[in-house]
Amino acid sequence: MNRFRVRLTLIIIGMIGLSVLTAGLFMAQTFRNNHLDALQDNMLREMKIMIAKMEWPTGNTQDVYTYFTETAKMYHDIAGVRVTFIRGDGTVLGDSGYDAQLMENHFNREEIREAREDGIGREIRRSDTTQVNSMYVAIPIDPGSPTSDYVRLAMSLQDVDESVGELWTVVLIGLVVLFILAALVSYRIARGLTRPLESITRVAQRIKNMDYQARVSVRKTDEIGELAHAINAMADSLQGQMRQLKQNETRLESVLDNMINGIVMIDREGTIVLLNRMAEEVLGFSARELVGRHYAEAKQQYELAQIIQEGLEEREHIREEITFYYPDERLLEIHLVPVFHTREEFGGVLLVLRDVTEIRRLERMRSEFVANVSHELKTPIAAVKGFAETLLGGAVNDPATANSFLQIIFDESERLNRLIGDILELSKVESRRVPLQLSPVEMSPFVARTMEFISSEATRKHISLEMSVEEGLYVEADEDRLSQILINLLANGVNYTPEGGKVSITVEPVHKSGVKDHENYDMIRIKIADTGIGIPKKDLPRIFERFYRVDKARSRSSGGTGLGLSIVKHLVELHKGTIVVDSSPGVGSTFTIELPVLHS
Ligand code: ADP
Repeated sequence: MNRFRVRLTLIIIGMIGLSVLTAGLFMAQTFRNNHLDALQDNMLREMKIMIAKMEWPTGNTQDVYTYFTETAKMYHDIAGVRVTFIRGDGTVLGDSGYDAQLMENHFNREEIREAREDGIGREIRRSDTTQVNSMYVAIPIDPGSPTSDYVRLAMSLQDVDESVGELWTVVLIGLVVLFILAALVSYRIARGLTRPLESITRVAQRIKNMDYQARVSVRKTDEIGELAHAINAMADSLQGQMRQLKQNETRLESVLDNMINGIVMIDREGTIVLLNRMAEEVLGFSARELVGRHYAEAKQQYELAQIIQEGLEEREHIREEITFYYPDERLLEIHLVPVFHTREEFGGVLLVLRDVTEIRRLERMRSEFVANVSHELKTPIAAVKGFAETLLGGAVNDPATANSFLQIIFDESERLNRLIGDILELSKVESRRVPLQLSPVEMSPFVARTMEFISSEATRKHISLEMSVEEGLYVEADEDRLSQILINLLANGVNYTPEGGKVSITVEPVHKSGVKDHENYDMIRIKIADTGIGIPKKDLPRIFERFYRVDKARSRSSGGTGLGLSIVKHLVELHKGTIVVDSSPGVGSTFTIELPVLHS
């Protein structure tokens, strides 16, 4: 921009200089011409006086030469100019400065020729004789006659040239002064013109560098002011558009990042251009590692690369489920959708990834559950059906057989009833349809009440029941559910403990923070221990599974459904608690439950 300012300054200075120079040239020329004209007029006057005063002898004798030479010298002394007398044929008669007889014929001298033709002859030239730049003026002494003699005066132009030289000096000094003034003025003008342009350029550059807050502060109303306003309006609009774009981008980003599906965008060249947070999680790679890379180099599973390749080639929707083994094994459902920017222009493909491991697991569990339920129901139903058939076949007539068969039918239907009751209960707890009815439960009376449910069975089996509950312990819980937990565990304890054994229940506070303050406990720990048959180590991890039984025959004979512990585990989890089991075969089992005191 500064170059423009300098250029503008130089142009203005150049133009001013050129005009001053031209004016100077004209002035000098006019001055010189005027000077020469005045000189010529003077010389004419002098010559006319000379002609009027002197005699003009004819002939070319020595006397005549002498006369003219003398006269010429005399006039030269008076007027200070070189005087020459010339015959009509060009012979020089006398000269104030030189020997006339040695001088060549002047017939063809320009001034003589002009004098012959026009009456006055004037010439400026370097004299061959004097070698000085001189002005020659000649007139015929008898203007009417073609053969008239001539008087010629010559004057050195040194004075004239000196005057012109002085004029030039003045003009040049003026020129220099003008130059300086012009330079200053034009620099200011140029600066005034270029400064707003410079500031506009600066702002434009800032806008180019994405600083959309930059504005021009030009208050002018001329074209530059209009340009500034236009730039500001453009910046306003850009800023608005950028804000909008940013907003849209943020919205899009937050939508993408909060989507529960993984999204991967691949352009039509196969380069990964976008990867949302869920996709990072699902694929086990960060966006930094994948974005900008070709899908084939992205270290992804072969099947995925194949689907992408197929999608890019076929440009059709593809749905596939792939098992991934990195970082851990999981099943991904992949939807590949072709993306078209316009009807014709293919933009690439969009991959929607969904981790369906859990869904498939649940589906599998559900179908397994249905199979298990059917299997569990089949046995008692088959028994009921078989014994009923036998009765119908005639056994009803034998009262003793009929009686025992009917007892079996009754027992099996009881089992069926329990089984269906447990299944319903489990599905209710699992689906979390029924919310917990939380209330403060005082543990000591509560445990005592609960133990009564199994006391008759314990007495029948000569199993002693023990309880040790700290007084004044409270927990926030759903009373019915909590009693179900305890009953299930106590009943198991009684069931799987041989006669004469012992089942005990202990409740104590747990201080998480470490301060053993009787009032401020965070959790309560319930331990239900028995001296029963125990559970083999290999079965321990599975006993909370539905329908899992260590010894099917024994469990069934004791009326077990294999669902009790499942229900217990779900109920404990509903209370945000934990349950663990510790057992050694032949020694006994201990189930430990920890429940938070408060549910905030
Ligand atoms: P069930 O109705 O058969 O008792 P549970 O879900 O309550 O079903 O228990 C699952 C299995 O865990 C039982 O079949 C049994 O083999 C074992 N089990 C549960 N509690 C005890 C215990 N206190 N002592 C020994 N084995 C137990």
